[in-house]
Amino acid sequence: MSILIFWDNDVSMGIMHPVARMISDIIDMPVFAEENPVMLRGYDRSRNQNDASRILGDMQDVYTRRMGCADSILIVTGKDLFIRGRDFVFGLARPGVNVSIVSAARLMNSWYGRADRDEDLMDRIVKEGTHELCHCMGLDHCDNPECIMYYPQTLDELDRKKKMLCPKCRENLNIYKFSE
Ligand SMILES: [Zn+2]
Ligand SMILES: [Zn+2]
Repeated sequence: MSILIFWDNDVSMGIMHPVARMISDIIDMPVFAEENPVMLRGYDRSRNQNDASRILGDMQDVYTRRMGCADSILIVTGKDLFIRGRDFVFGLARPGVNVSIVSAARLMNSWYGRADRDEDLMDRIVKEGTHELCHCMGLDHCDNPECIMYYPQTLDELDRKKKMLCPKCRENLNIYKFSE
């Protein structure tokens, strides 16, 4: 299995390949990235957000079912995402079908009124993207606040995480890889 990132052009294209490389280094698997060929639907006008579950449902239809795509797909979008019952989500994964999505909207400093920096945005997309991909590879949330599989409720908690899996999660990922 390989990993494919579909990158929306509303997120800086210049950091696409560096992000793919960093994710590849963390999980020690090949990661490819290309501009997203898919129109994302699920826009909710009253919230000015996109429904993350709807987008993953579409992806499941197009890629997994119709095209028989065996890759694990991660979408990176600039659109702000929600799921029913939550104001927003940084990202979402549907492990059974290997599709996941991350929104860069709330990962940008400018969302919080601060100056944007590519390094900050790259760091956060790498952490969130790896987190969702690892859900697709069977990993659950982790109690270690520095581990990528920790579930962050705020940007500060996301920034406190390191760009690595703790030893326990790394072992779980290896078990997954060698059982494939
Ligand atoms: Zn999670
Ligand atoms: Zn962990």
